[in-house]
Amino acid sequence: MSRDETLNPMFAGLETLDGVGPKTALAMQAAGLQRPADLLFFLPHSAIDRTRRGSVNEVLPPIVTTVEVTVGQHHPPRNKGGRYRVDLFDGTEDFQAVWFHAKGDYLTRLLPQGQKRLISGKVELFDGVYQMVHPDYVLHPDEASNLPLCEPVYPLTAGLTQKGVAKAARSALSRAPQMIEWIEPSVVSRERWPDWATALHDLHHPDTPESLSPLTPARQRLAYDELFAHQLTLALARASRRRLAGRPSVGTGDLSRKVLTALPYKPTGAQTRALTEIAADMAEPHRMNRLLQGDVGSGKTLVALLALLIAVEAGGQGVLMAPTEILARQHLESLSPLADAAGIRMEVLTGRDKGADRRAKLAALADGSLHVLLGTHAVFQDDVVFHDLRLAIVDEQHRFGVAQRMQLAGKGVADVLVMTATPIPRSLSLASYGDMDVSVLDEKPPGRKPVTTALMATERLEEVIATLAARVAEGRQAYWVCPLVEDSEVVDYASAESRFASLRAVMGDTVGMVHARMAPADKDSTMRRFAAGDLRVLVATTVIEVGVNVPNASIMVIERAESFGLAQLHQLRGRVGRGAEQSTCLLLYQAPLSGTAKRRLMILRETEDGFRIAEEDLTIRGAGDLIGTAQSGLPRFRIADLERQAGLMALAQSDARTLLTRDPDLTSPRGQAARGLLWLLGRDEAFKMLRVG
Ligand code: ADP
Ligand code: MG
Repeated sequence: MSRDETLNPMFAGLETLDGVGPKTALAMQAAGLQRPADLLFFLPHSAIDRTRRGSVNEVLPPIVTTVEVTVGQHHPPRNKGGRYRVDLFDGTEDFQAVWFHAKGDYLTRLLPQGQKRLISGKVELFDGVYQMVHPDYVLHPDEASNLPLCEPVYPLTAGLTQKGVAKAARSALSRAPQMIEWIEPSVVSRERWPDWATALHDLHHPDTPESLSPLTPARQRLAYDELFAHQLTLALARASRRRLAGRPSVGTGDLSRKVLTALPYKPTGAQTRALTEIAADMAEPHRMNRLLQGDVGSGKTLVALLALLIAVEAGGQGVLMAPTEILARQHLESLSPLADAAGIRMEVLTGRDKGADRRAKLAALADGSLHVLLGTHAVFQDDVVFHDLRLAIVDEQHRFGVAQRMQLAGKGVADVLVMTATPIPRSLSLASYGDMDVSVLDEKPPGRKPVTTALMATERLEEVIATLAARVAEGRQAYWVCPLVEDSEVVDYASAESRFASLRAVMGDTVGMVHARMAPADKDSTMRRFAAGDLRVLVATTVIEVGVNVPNASIMVIERAESFGLAQLHQLRGRVGRGAEQSTCLLLYQAPLSGTAKRRLMILRETEDGFRIAEEDLTIRGAGDLIGTAQSGLPRFRIADLERQAGLMALAQSDARTLLTRDPDLTSPRGQAARGLLWLLGRDEAFKMLRVG
């Protein structure tokens, strides 16, 4: 795929930029700045106002300022390592400039006694006397125009300096090609956005510190450009997948009718809507790539089953992949009676299946007598061959990024449905799933009782345990989730072991435990005993272990709640409130809580609406922290701020899809311009999905 050659200077070596030598180039590369193009988008986060003042007494120290001074006496240090001071007079105020470790001859040349100089730096008051330590600039009055009145401040890393980066960025700007506008003209005029080059110029040469705010038109425009490039890439992925030969699967309704008759309840309106959308996609010859988004307990599993039945009714097979073994087995348990009602064969396949048993399942898959397979990642191993796989469902819970989904599409699967339980704000969901079509389960099955949520300091642990023991004696069941210690299974394990021991001391052998290091068979049997009610309290280490459905469990205790993400806490709480009993969620925290931590936990107490929780979490913490980036598949943006520029994402998505509808191969002038943007932003993968180079 060839790049327009006017863009070449933007992809040349960094050393082609003014002031960049081999050392600086290495430091820039370490900071993720690989090419001149990257410097264009490396924007200052703030700016220093160097407006010239009549005297230092016009400003409120400590602050950076600029004044013209007459140089007075020099006071070299008396001993090695002491301070070198120079007296200065700005016409009103006497003050001093101070250097540590300075070379005297350098300073006598820089500040000759009796002469005038323009000096700029941070003024401080020290014992009632103004002073300027290590001034940033000392210039001859004739050179005043060299002083930036408003100096950009870049986010630096080791080996880089403000002046060096500013110079390199300006040099990159001066080489930037003329670009045709890629944004829809009506959007540019409605938003009053500057053109691309002007926007970049303005942000690298700010007039005032305020001109760098995320709300300025220049910054909005560049953020939009970045989101547009992202959405265009996703839209291209979507379009190229839709071109792949799919297989129309039209259900007869025979099997689903049997299941619906066997169900003790009716599907909700949202479940029916989602299923209609899915059925329509499956009936089309192109491949489905759909996201089913629904809060915990919204009933995604039933929708999944009914979709799988469409695949079977059409004469094919379906697979449902869960993130863990426990969940896969739980799906089997809850779905088996319905599969029996429909008269189809359903099995589970995980990493634990070995030998003859596994071979038999594989044979049944290959000859088509096994209709629906449930499992973990193991269902995508090379030797798992389907007779006629028509639908793959991934119950993802954020463990699947865009890249993995693309891999899955390469497995020769006809239609793909991804189910996510964590509600995420719309701007983030568009960022992560912009390549997909989305169905939302925004209605919960009727009859759910709200969960009462309380916060309590860990100091009251003994009281909590005593109350828990009393409730358990009354016949209730509880989960006890131990703190999540960052990436350290060993510590998690230790904390769970000791909590397990202390709860056992009070409640005896009705207390069980599951954690990641247990043998799978032991985990299963513990889970089974908890589900059967033999165990009354289940101590668990990780979130995953409790991703299960035990309707009789009505108490959820979470230790060190402040160390969990809000989405996780919401998920955990969703494990209770599933039965007839009034449920309680107790969030134990380590005092003192910071203001932010407190606000976050309070939201959980106020609402059970997962989307509201997610939106609030985003405002409090910002997009970067909301969900681990690697884990969520959420891309990082250089300019866009998903929190304060949330509206731009939706705009970018609809514009990207519109552009591709009109110009699927990006060959029109605007399409060509958009290609230029994709190159500049390093979206090289987009070009693999274009049919025309
Ligand atoms: P999730 O979306 O979290 O996967 P599940 O599919 O596990 O939710 O459903 C949660 C519970 O709600 C299950 O016990 C399920 O049997 C029940 N359920 C699902 N759909 C309905 C419905 N339409 N009416 C009543 N209960 C339902
Ligand atoms: Mg589920």
